[in-house]
Amino acid sequence: MSWQEILSINGYRVTQPRVRIMELLSGAGLPLTPQQIHAQLLAQGCDLGLVSVYRTLDLLAQLELVAIVYDPERNPGYVISSAGHHHHIVCQQCHQALEFSGSDDIDELIQRVEAETAFQVRDHLLQLYGICPGCQSK
Ligand SMILES: [Zn+2]
Ligand SMILES: [Zn+2]
Repeated sequence: MSWQEILSINGYRVTQPRVRIMELLSGAGLPLTPQQIHAQLLAQGCDLGLVSVYRTLDLLAQLELVAIVYDPERNPGYVISSAGHHHHIVCQQCHQALEFSGSDDIDELIQRVEAETAFQVRDHLLQLYGICPGCQSK
């Protein structure tokens, strides 16, 4: 299913700001912060306010069309997200983010934490950091 169809079946219109942001993120090599998205759209002649950028990103994230990537050396950035359970691995040198499948990823850890803390675990946030193949060969 295309992202346009996902917007539609959830009752949202395919508006110009949503199209511009999805296109920008699709073509971006690196996660982009809301400020960077705002600046790049402005450079393309699209004067979408920063508040609108945030609101659009919130909606796209809620529909899981985009994901937030955390990078200790940068502000959190947004990337295009595929459907389903997955996480990101981030290169500590060039800062690109790659998706990896997350099915059953930390079941054992969750069981151990539930046993140790008596919490009921409902969700998790996982991201890995490393050096990508391109940066390894430099
Ligand atoms: Zn790299
Ligand atoms: Zn996971």
